Amino acid sequence: MQHNLARAKACAPQARAWGVVKANAYGHGLERALRGFAAADGLALVEFDNAVRLRELGWTKPILLLEGFFDPSDLELMVRHRFNGAVHCVEQIEWLEAAQRAGRLTAPLDLHLKMNTGMNRLGFTPAAYGAAHARLRALAGVGEITLMTHFANADDAAHPRLPMREQLRRFHAATAGLPGPRSLSNSAGIFRQAEFGDQLGNDWVRPGIMLYGGTPGGKSAADFGLLPTMTLTSEIIGVQQIAVGDAVGYGSRFEADGPMRVGVVACGYADGYPRHAPLGTPVLVDGVRTRLVGRVSMDMITVDLTALPQARVGSKVTLWGRGLPIDDVAEAAGTIGYELMCALAPRVPVVEG
Ligand SMILES: *Cc1c(COP(=O)(O)O)cnc(C)c1O
Repeated sequence: MQHNLARAKACAPQARAWGVVKANAYGHGLERALRGFAAADGLALVEFDNAVRLRELGWTKPILLLEGFFDPSDLELMVRHRFNGAVHCVEQIEWLEAAQRAGRLTAPLDLHLKMNTGMNRLGFTPAAYGAAHARLRALAGVGEITLMTHFANADDAAHPRLPMREQLRRFHAATAGLPGPRSLSNSAGIFRQAEFGDQLGNDWVRPGIMLYGGTPGGKSAADFGLLPTMTLTSEIIGVQQIAVGDAVGYGSRFEADGPMRVGVVACGYADGYPRHAPLGTPVLVDGVRTRLVGRVSMDMITVDLTALPQARVGSKVTLWGRGLPIDDVAEAAGTIGYELMCALAPRVPVVEG
């Protein structure tokens, strides 16, 4: 985690970095992230309860709530814990104005005013942005306003519909002349920092997946010098020798086309292994890459041991992480590394090392 954070900072040396720790630090655990990202300039997340927890754990640097406050009553926590938060809709501005009138903004709140530059999830349109900014600036209880947007396709340099460059153009056009720091890039945007250079104008970047040794797609984590932070391991708990025509697992979907050895691994969808992983999804057994065969069940998967005559009960298995990039497994399973990390189940014992 420390290494990957240093990589992120090296990619965007002019900017400060929020370490993104939403979703239980992408499945890694909040306390672990707090230690791993101690050198971050701030931590960013979505959940209020975990934001409070970060303060309780002693984090005194900035905390950013990436979706801001969900309800007027959240403002009390924002003020009390000095949370920074995204303002993305007019309702939030109304809640702030009401809180100001009621004298409840007792300490200056730093905010991120979010612009919708084409992703069409959260944020003010470029046309509405200036007016939203002026309303916030008029509130005595509002401190620093960071100008923020989010890229839809930073991982795809040749995106035909909405290239990163176009979102950047819209953002710059609508923020020209407005004071305050800028925050634009997620991991995918940080990976392209060199290509865009100063044009990005990030004062703060928001790396998430890269801090955990994953990528948003495209290049591999190793290309960026990132290290995996989560390695999911198990063992072979049973071996079956099967004959041509024999089938494996629920639905008997995989049928052997010759005699083969099948290893049973103690890991299933109740551990967070994706149930939709198809035949051929890579798995490491004793450090050798082999393939998933048969359906993923709740507590087990089955793998092809034909090329691994030494493998037996107790052989070490890696589902993803060190030696097997999570992005490779995710791609085979039709998902992204983010989802695999976030879905790690509570029953999986976590060992640090
Ligand atoms: C989750 C999130 C990020 C981090 O994205 P990655 O792709 O994981 O780097 C950055 N900004 C915002 C607003 C987010 O919600």
